[in-house]
Parts: sequence; C-alpha cells; structure tokens
Amino acid sequence: MRIASGKVAFIHYTVTEDGSGQLLETTGEGDPLGYLHGRGQILPALEAALEGKSTGDSFVIIVPPEFAYGAHDGAKVFVVERSQISALADVRPGVQLQAEARNGLQTATVVKVEGDQVTMDTNHPLAGKSLRFEGVVHGVRDATPEEIQHGHAHGPAGEHY
Ligand code: ZN
Repeated sequence: MRIASGKVAFIHYTVTEDGSGQLLETTGEGDPLGYLHGRGQILPALEAALEGKSTGDSFVIIVPPEFAYGAHDGAKVFVVERSQISALADVRPGVQLQAEARNGLQTATVVKVEGDQVTMDTNHPLAGKSLRFEGVVHGVRDATPEEIQHGHAHGPAGEHY
C-alpha cells in the first residue's frame, strides 16, 4: 500500500540541523509517528516527499528555513536587564522563558548573559535553520472513517487514544 491522501502512515524519522548535524528531534527507539496523509499534519515538504512511498521505503529531505520555521528575524532578538526577569528563573543560554510582549506571552530563548544584560530571542528555536529529515516508512493503512472525520490519525489499529 502506498502513502496517499486518506491513508494513515507511520514513520520513524530523525531531524537534524543540515550542516552542523545537530540532533533536533527523533522517534528513536520509541513509537513511530502516525499521521493522516494529505491533511497538513506534518510539514508540507515532508508530506510531499512521503507521497507514494510504502512500508520499508526510506526518505531523506532537506527543508530550507522558508519551508520550515521561517527565516531568523533579528528584530525578535532583544536585551533586557536581569532584574526584569523573575529572580526564580534559571537564566542561562539555551533556557526558554515566558516573556511578556505586546501581543501577550511569548516563549523566549536566552541567547547570552553578560553581567546584568540578558539577550533573549523570541524566534522559533528552529527559525533560520535548514532541517534534514531522514527516516523510513514503518507502515501504511487505510484511515478509518473516524480518522477522516477528525482530520488526524489515531493509534496503530485506528483506536482512539
Ligand atoms: Zn480523533
């Protein structure tokens, strides 16, 4: 059976940053990811690459930032004083904090801490990155009427989680 609209596909995959090879996400030794094909449940570029594949087929695609999480926007990087952040917060590079912005709460990643100056970035952590998806199709089956109605995949045999 081939992956097409109306099929539920199960894939094992690993996402790395193209170039550096930094591991970003993987299904690893866990359960494969199940999704309903043709409903935009996964990145469109990945969905397009999987179209027509069947169990055991492997795939490798590189998705540039504009088709993944967008370009990195320098306007979303700003500096605040440490005293403006909760004293309880663990402020060091890589930590994500909730920051109050004009349009409500936003997730900000701490980029740099220099004395009292904390540089924060509200871009998506994967913004500006080319992503390399590599994986294998674990299984393909027909979607159940319930899955079609819900617009998403349920369990391996169609059972609702
Ligand atoms: Zn459902």
